[in-house]
Amino acid sequence: SFQKINISCKVLCMHNKFNSKIMKYKHIFEPLDLGFTTLKNRILMGSMHTGLEEEKNGIDRIATYYAERAKGGVGLIITGGISPNVQGWTGPFAARMSTEKHAKQHQKITAAVHKEGGKICMQILHSGRYGYHPFNVAPSKIKSPITPFKPFKLTQSGINRTIRDFVNCAELSQVAGYDGVEIMGSEGYLINQFIAKRTNKRTDSWGGDYENRMRLPIALVKQVREAVGKNFIIIYRLSMLDLVENGSSWEEVVQLGKEIEKAGATIINTGIGWHEARIPTISTSVPRAAFTWVTKKMKEEIKIPLITSNRINMPETAEKILSERDADMISMARPFLADPEWVNKAAEERADEINTCIGCNQACLDHVFEQKVASCLVNPRACHETELNYNTTEVKKNIAVIGAGPAGLSAATIAAQRGHNVTLFDADTAVGGQFNIAKIIPGKEEFHETLRYFKRQLELHKVTVKLNTKVSIGDLLTSDFDEIVIATGIEQRELKIEGIQHKNVLTYLDVLKGQKPVGKRVAIIGAGAIGFDIAEYLTHQGESTALNIDAWLQEWGIDKTLKSRAGIEGKKAVSHPSPREVFMFKRSKGKFGGNLGKTTGWIHRATLKKKKVQFIGEVSYTKIDDQGLHYTQNEEHKILEADTIVICAGQIPHRVLYEPLLAAGKKVHVIGGADVAAELDAKRAINQGSRLA
Ligand code: FAD
Ligand code: SF4
Repeated sequence: SFQKINISCKVLCMHNKFNSKIMKYKHIFEPLDLGFTTLKNRILMGSMHTGLEEEKNGIDRIATYYAERAKGGVGLIITGGISPNVQGWTGPFAARMSTEKHAKQHQKITAAVHKEGGKICMQILHSGRYGYHPFNVAPSKIKSPITPFKPFKLTQSGINRTIRDFVNCAELSQVAGYDGVEIMGSEGYLINQFIAKRTNKRTDSWGGDYENRMRLPIALVKQVREAVGKNFIIIYRLSMLDLVENGSSWEEVVQLGKEIEKAGATIINTGIGWHEARIPTISTSVPRAAFTWVTKKMKEEIKIPLITSNRINMPETAEKILSERDADMISMARPFLADPEWVNKAAEERADEINTCIGCNQACLDHVFEQKVASCLVNPRACHETELNYNTTEVKKNIAVIGAGPAGLSAATIAAQRGHNVTLFDADTAVGGQFNIAKIIPGKEEFHETLRYFKRQLELHKVTVKLNTKVSIGDLLTSDFDEIVIATGIEQRELKIEGIQHKNVLTYLDVLKGQKPVGKRVAIIGAGAIGFDIAEYLTHQGESTALNIDAWLQEWGIDKTLKSRAGIEGKKAVSHPSPREVFMFKRSKGKFGGNLGKTTGWIHRATLKKKKVQFIGEVSYTKIDDQGLHYTQNEEHKILEADTIVICAGQIPHRVLYEPLLAAGKKVHVIGGADVAAELDAKRAINQGSRLA
């Protein structure tokens, strides 16, 4: 009986410990009772198209991908958008649910999620004029600025058919075993196109005044509810802030929200900004939870639960929103690519182990726009769960990793996680490599989180870390490591211009790492991604709007009072003036920043324009002297009087250790920048490090 008491005490103790841990994020872990079903917590995995939908074996891969997130504890998953018919495709042969056969295929997905104790809704998405194919349709024949295909105008019967297709799709989602559907009514897709005057020029009963323009979403929710019955979740994604000219006013959004509630929606999700909006809504430079105030305002109007979204990536932020009752649920999409176990880690108060989404878009959205399968810069397993697994090793090895940048960190932590003995060396005083520099660029503060994550992984997996240790060939030749990984990064490319040694010339590392003083009139040589980052750094006065929601909203001209139509009309953007004049130079033709990320390049260009940076292309450099930078453009000799010239002229691999070790017959590998130097390429570095490990 003594033993029994002892065991019960232990169980009680564990129970209390668990409860007290959950207490830290008690609002996140408060179940949400929807009447006919209960969600176990307030975290929703938002809809993301990953490209797996269209892949061979896509269904199996998606099932594994979602099941991992369900196992990771998320309260409700929303699938990537599935079209109700061919016209609604996002692109040619995109995922669609319009037949029993489609529904049966999806049963694998729902079964896998339910097996892990999760719940999943299917998003019904009709792209309208955003469809990247020649059969796309819209309320009016107006081409979108982001697709080359002019849409066909939907006829009255075409609209009725579209409604029937939505209903059919919802009914089929029940056959597929989904717990509900999300009707995508935001981001500028078909439903938005009907609602806004910008895209709806019809004169029939589906156009003209607002009552007519909002008929489609109301009809869709009503008819889907009638078809699926009471006990099925219907989420409606409401565009609360269009961020485009001639979008909806706040009063119109509220009116529609109330109608959607009446029509039978279970939950309303927040949509911010159409895809064609020229205001960033999810990139890393957007402050965390930058749009929650919009959902909060809607809570005054609507009784059913409201979900908020956009740039929420850590439990503290989610908990704060919920505890202040600004929303009833939190939607996060990309954070679940970065870490499938986000929710369980929060529940167990292991937030410091969360692999945080840094909002870079480099491996997720950029991939989707390039028609590639999405993944994640900080977690290359995302969407590759069936082929990249870090199983415990059967042969334990002693491994040396030289260089603790992203490549070395990923190789070291994953090899150690698999059970190897790993020693990680770095010449620097801290781990992180170039990420220690990237994190000081205004708008790139999230890199701190990746460094925190890796540091914790090093501790957890007991990697021996040797800092301030510059490793030489001699050290390695005489060592008895079973395998050596060279992750020594890059060297700056030398530029051959007369006067390059002039006292006014600095490299980007002198500026960012060395913190050397920079003058008031600056020429930047090289307009690659690092050139853009340096320009960003030099045009800010130490302030970063990524850390200040109100300043950021002002910078992009977003009206927090919501008096401006679509949140922007008539509102002037106000940016802090740059503390110095900056001129960016490049030799090549074409637009500046053409090689930046597909979904973020325009943001960098727009930000620098606000700071009045001047772009000077197609030049050849002649010399640098006390006067400044001499160059020719269109065969004309010119001088830019500059007091500092910053060189950002590319990089080459730094791999002096590799070849000699190879020649000596050592088992040696080279990864990251040391293998291929390509400016901003942490995605490749982490992927290569992880796969090697
Ligand atoms: P590094 O990060 O260069 O690390 C190499 C490490 O090796 C260093 O810590 C160095 O001290 C160590 N080392 C070298 N020789 C030795 C030796 N002999 N002994 C011991 N240690 C040694 N990438 C992106 O993908 N997205 C971005 O937004 C982004 N922004 C950036 C912004 C800036 C300002 C900069 C400078 C870079 C940015 N990058 C970005 C690039 C990214 O940081 C690199 O692609 C990445 O760091 C390369 O990783 P790595 O591990 O190969 O090399
Ligand atoms: Fe987040 Fe970047 Fe990963 Fe996309 S690639 S999920 S933005 S960290």
